[in-house]
Amino acid sequence: MPRRYVITLCDGPTCIHKRSKELEAAIETELTRHELTGRVSVNLSGCLGMCAQGPVMAINPQYTVYGNVTADDIPEIVSSHILKKKPVARLAIDEDHLYNRFFRVFGDINFFGKQMRIVLRNCGIIDPENIDDYLSVRGYEALAKVLTDMKPADVIAQVKTSGLRGRGGAGFPTGIKWELAARQKTDEKFLICNADEGDPGAFMDRSTIEGDPHTVLEGMIIGAYAVGASKGFVYIRAEYPLAIKRLEKAIADARRECFLGKNILGSDFSFDIEIRLGAGAFVCGEETALIHSIEGHRGMPRPRPPYPSVQGLFDKPTLINNVETWANIPVIILDGAEWFSSIGTEKSKGTKVFALAGKIKNTGLIEVPMGVTLRSIIYDIGGGIPNNKKFKALQTGGPSGGCLSEDYLDTKIDYESLAAAGSIMGSGGMIVMDEDSCMVNIARFFLEFTQNESCGKCTPCREGTKRMLEILTRITEGKGQEGDIERLERLGNLIKKASLCGLGQSAPNPVLSTIKNFRSEYEEHIKQKKCRAGACTALTGYEITDKCVGCTACRKVCPVGAITGNP
Ligand code: SF4
Repeated sequence: MPRRYVITLCDGPTCIHKRSKELEAAIETELTRHELTGRVSVNLSGCLGMCAQGPVMAINPQYTVYGNVTADDIPEIVSSHILKKKPVARLAIDEDHLYNRFFRVFGDINFFGKQMRIVLRNCGIIDPENIDDYLSVRGYEALAKVLTDMKPADVIAQVKTSGLRGRGGAGFPTGIKWELAARQKTDEKFLICNADEGDPGAFMDRSTIEGDPHTVLEGMIIGAYAVGASKGFVYIRAEYPLAIKRLEKAIADARRECFLGKNILGSDFSFDIEIRLGAGAFVCGEETALIHSIEGHRGMPRPRPPYPSVQGLFDKPTLINNVETWANIPVIILDGAEWFSSIGTEKSKGTKVFALAGKIKNTGLIEVPMGVTLRSIIYDIGGGIPNNKKFKALQTGGPSGGCLSEDYLDTKIDYESLAAAGSIMGSGGMIVMDEDSCMVNIARFFLEFTQNESCGKCTPCREGTKRMLEILTRITEGKGQEGDIERLERLGNLIKKASLCGLGQSAPNPVLSTIKNFRSEYEEHIKQKKCRAGACTALTGYEITDKCVGCTACRKVCPVGAITGNP
C-alpha cells in the first residue's frame, strides 16, 4: 500500500444518533483483520455537515465521502477502497449533487408550502458554477443598482429599515453594525464573511455557498461599498471542499466580469475577496477569535469593546457578518427594505434558514418566515417523527442552545421567543430527538464538545466546563450523587456569568435546559440508577438469555455480553 490512508468518521450528533459509534468498532476490527493497523489513520471529525446522509465517513486518497454507512458495509469499504484502491460507488455520496437533493427531494406541499425562500431562492435552481445562470436570475443587479443609484448612506439606511439582524446567532441589528463601521475614519477597512460553521448538526452555510456562491459575494461587495472597505475575506471551514471549490470559481468569475477588483463595473469603487481556511476550531466562529486566526495567530477571543466594526482585523475597522446575513442583502436592495420588513414578527424580520436533522422524517435545509412555530417546522415541514416514535426534545442553536420539551412546541421562531423558552436561535442548527434519546447523555455530549473546544483563556470556561463534565459523566455512569443537579445548576450559572466569550457564556445551556425540562431523567439516573432511554450503557439492565456464555461480567454491570452472548 503506497500511501497512508486516512479515514475520517463524522462524530456529529446526528451521525451518533444514527449509530456511527458502531462503525468505529467495525473499522478497528477490519483494519486488524487485514493487518492495516498503524498504516491507516482513523480520525473522528466534527460534524461534516451532511446529516441527512449520516452516518458519514470520508476516506483519502481517492477522496470519497460515504453516506448511510452501516457496520456491515465496513468490510467492503476497507477491502475495496483501501486494499484495491477502488471506492465503493454504491455508498459514495455525490457531493456535487448533494445540495440538489436537499432542495429537490421533497415534493410534498406541506414541505414547500410552509417555507419562504429568500436566502435559498436560487439553490437547486441555478448552476452554482455558471455565473451566467446567476446573472439570469437578476444576479449582480442589486450591485449595479447600488453603484449607480445609491450613496453608501442610502444602502445602510435600507439595511436598517429592513430590520435584518445578524444570522450568526447573536441577532445584532445589521444596519447598526454597518453604520458603526462606516462612521470610522481610517485609510483602510476590511470586511469578513464568517463561514466557519462549527455547530454539530448545522449545514446552512455549506449548502448556501455550494448552491449559490455569487449571492454571498454580491452581498459582501454591497456591504464593502456601504462601509468603505477595500478588502474582504471569506473564512470557511476546510472540511467543506466543495463549497471552497465553488467559492474559488465564483470569485474568479466575478473578477473576470468586473464585479470584483479595481473599478467595479466602471465605478470608482474597488474591492477584492480572498478565502481563508479554518482549521477546525469551533471557537474561531467567534468573531474576535476568527480575526486572530486570519492574522495568523492562535484563534482566541478577546474582550469587547472595542468591537470589530471599530477595531478589528489588523486593528482596522472590520465588518463581519455570516453567510446567511450576506445572502439576504441583494434581495433587500432589489425588492426593498419595506417588503423585507413586512415578513416575520415585530422584532425579527425576514426568514431563517435551519438545518433540520436528527429523528425527523424530512431531514435537510429549510427556510421559513420568522414567526412560524416549532410545531409547524417539525410536523408540517419535517413530516413528524419516523418509526412511530414519540417526540421528546428539540435542540436549537447547536452546542450553545437549549433542549426544549413538547411544552414549547408552540413557541414562535424569533429571537425573543426562543430566548424566553430557554434556548437560542443560534445560527440555525435544529436537532430533533425521540423517546430513544437520553437527555442527560445528550447534555453530556454537547458539554463534552464545548469543553474540548474551549480555548482555555479564561478560568470559568476552561475549568468550570471540565467540572460540569465530570459530574455529568459520573451521572451517566451510574455514580451520580445527591446534590449533583444543584451543583450543575450552580456551576452552569456561574460559567454563563463569568466567561469571556460566547462559547463559555452559552456552554452550560444544554445542561441547564435539560435540567429545567427533563429534571426527572436526571433524578432517575442519580437515585434509581436508571436510564429510561437505554442510552447510558452502564445503567442498562441486562437479562440472562439462552445466549449467555456465563462470563459473569453482568454481575459487575455487564456491557453487552449477556444479551448478545458475545462478551
Ligand atoms: Fe476561551 Fe472559553 Fe474563555 Fe471563550 S469563554 S475565551 S472559549 S476559555
